[in-house]
Amino acid sequence: MNDCIFCKIVSKEISSDIVYEDDFTLAFLDIHPVTKGHTLVIPKEHSSGILDTENAILEKVIVTSKKVGKALLAATKATGLNTGSNNGESAGQDVFHLHFHLIPRFAKKELKAWPHHDSEPKTRAELAMRIKENL
Ligand code: 5GP
Ligand code: ZN
Repeated sequence: MNDCIFCKIVSKEISSDIVYEDDFTLAFLDIHPVTKGHTLVIPKEHSSGILDTENAILEKVIVTSKKVGKALLAATKATGLNTGSNNGESAGQDVFHLHFHLIPRFAKKELKAWPHHDSEPKTRAELAMRIKENL
């Protein structure tokens, strides 16, 4: 896509700190890291998020995330790793080219986890049924 910033990183029109590259995927340091070593893993071929990405490409992105994640832990001496992908504006996605965040973690106290809420068994059961009907 010609106005996609991550496509421009793939084509090297925009420079980035690349840590891994193969025929299908690219991994580079996030310009505004959540923690030291925060890395983004993307497919070279443009897709906007996981829901419109071919399974074969998704597999390659996950395999690259595992490979780079191991190297990140070794390089930063981190003890944990958050992996995640924001899909859609309401989910916090800013760049609409699929990317997985790899965020090294060093201590639990610095982690700002998502807030959890209580839920009712009946509500969960109904919701689970509705989701299964849509698979
Ligand atoms: P999102 O909010 O879409 O899940 O994440 C987009 C990420 O891309 C953000 O963490 C942001 O810091 C990073 N980012 C945005 N523009 C650039 C850029 O030009 N270069 C690099 N390396 N990272 C970027
Ligand atoms: Zn793109």
